[in-house]
Amino acid sequence: MPRLLSGFFALLWIVGCSPGSSERHQTLYVFGTLLEVTAYGAGADDFDRAVRGLEEALQQMHRQWHAWQGEGELVRLNRALAEGRILQVDAQLAGLLRRAQVYARQSDGLFNPAIGRLIALWGFHADEPPTGPPPDPAAIAALVRQAPGMADLEIAGRWISSDNPAVQLDLGAFAKGYALNLAIERLRGQGIRNAIVNAGGDLCVSGRHGDRPWRIGVRHPQGQGVIASLDAADGECVLTSGNYERYREFAGVRYAHIIDPRSGYPVRHVASATVISPDGALADAAATALSVAGPKQWRRIARRMGLKLVMLVDEQGRVWLTPEMRARVHFEGTPPPFSVTPLDRDAPAPLPPPP
Ligand code: AMP
Ligand code: MG
Repeated sequence: MPRLLSGFFALLWIVGCSPGSSERHQTLYVFGTLLEVTAYGAGADDFDRAVRGLEEALQQMHRQWHAWQGEGELVRLNRALAEGRILQVDAQLAGLLRRAQVYARQSDGLFNPAIGRLIALWGFHADEPPTGPPPDPAAIAALVRQAPGMADLEIAGRWISSDNPAVQLDLGAFAKGYALNLAIERLRGQGIRNAIVNAGGDLCVSGRHGDRPWRIGVRHPQGQGVIASLDAADGECVLTSGNYERYREFAGVRYAHIIDPRSGYPVRHVASATVISPDGALADAAATALSVAGPKQWRRIARRMGLKLVMLVDEQGRVWLTPEMRARVHFEGTPPPFSVTPLDRDAPAPLPPPP
């Protein structure tokens, strides 16, 4: 995967909690990015010990699940799949792939971690953002025609194979959410019960910040400020996909790192999609899928993925959200134009007229 934890800057950050003696912070450099761990009410030694153990576990995941660098398990698996060989992987990766199959099916293939070749073709299998013109349309069309999908993957216990050699796995759209969930559980197991683990704005929380919930801000996808803030409950994860996170820019056009597997081209209609769920991997996969689905199709996909708390910001800065999400977010400053629609409604509620 390009970068398991992507984005150097925080899309979301903890707001309104001035560092005090009850708060502890540590910033780790894992997965080629910064991961901020914040705890409330933990002893210094306990916190340091827990964070050291966490760092080691995350580095290990990074090595094993990197899509194109090193000799980790995923690199070996991708090689085997390309050569039509079957390979045994460890139980954790097999479990992760099984979950990816479910999310891919539920999202009608809009979340599709089997499109590693397309992602590489667009230049996102590199640490630096790609430059220059977009890839040859014929090469894009050829990869789309080969239609690699998670349903091509045969998972028998820990044995993985594919009858489609075009399948190349890239877990960048959901392994981060999985790892954040794991991180918060690991901290809990070490006695750190009130914490936030925040990777470039994607985060999971446990417990509370003293006598109130953890409050976080959702970054405005088209500006530097916060578009909304919300209280995150114990065990919740908040994952955002944004087409501003990583992109290729050429001749005034931005080509985002989120690819629509149906066309082979980057998504254009969504600036960001935010999902809240206790399941970080699901929220991460869903945020990517909903970015692809866009303002017209997001409700059907969200319904099928069993979500309730969803917010989309489109290219014009308009906000689309569920009633449940509306009840959670506080827009900062002048509220943007927004439309609240229950997921079982066929047509979205109309937006208010422009001011
Ligand atoms: P996220 O920030 O969670 O939306 O993940 C974006 C990353 O997921 C990209 O950098 C690609 O590595 C990968 N990706 C891009 N498009 C898709 C897609 N449609 N389905 C699954 N993974 C994707
Ligand atoms: Mg994602």
